[in-house]
Amino acid sequence: MEEKDIEELKQEEKELLESAKEAVRNSYNPVTGVLFGAAILTESGKVYTGSNIYHSSTGANLCAERIAAASAFSDGEKKIKALALVSEDGAEGKTFFPCGICRQFLTDVSEISGNDFPVIVKALKAKRVFVTSVLELLPYHYDNSFKIE
Ligand SMILES: [Zn+2]
Repeated sequence: MEEKDIEELKQEEKELLESAKEAVRNSYNPVTGVLFGAAILTESGKVYTGSNIYHSSTGANLCAERIAAASAFSDGEKKIKALALVSEDGAEGKTFFPCGICRQFLTDVSEISGNDFPVIVKALKAKRVFVTSVLELLPYHYDNSFKIE
């Protein structure tokens, strides 16, 4: 994982972060109160956003990055180029990273997409970003292909 200044990112990555930041405004989270926005850039150049939607049945909460990926897939866009995730700032300006459920979900998205796409993570007020990838976030993920036939 690399920590970078926003200015070190490619223009399309900066724009993707802006889309994710915009999606934070549509979040609904009375449960933990942390608002997230995600944006996915597909190989065709389309951008799909998601906002976290948490509710009283916490096990069924929907994270922003899963909504963005589901939106892209639902539109037939399964070649992912990059994912940006922006959240409110945590305590002492800490950055929130994807939860365990999303990490596993994204490994499947990555496999279907055919690439270990970059994941750019940023807290709203932070000037620096973290750049990682799906498999770096969850290297020893569950893989259904390991099953014995
Ligand atoms: Zn999640």
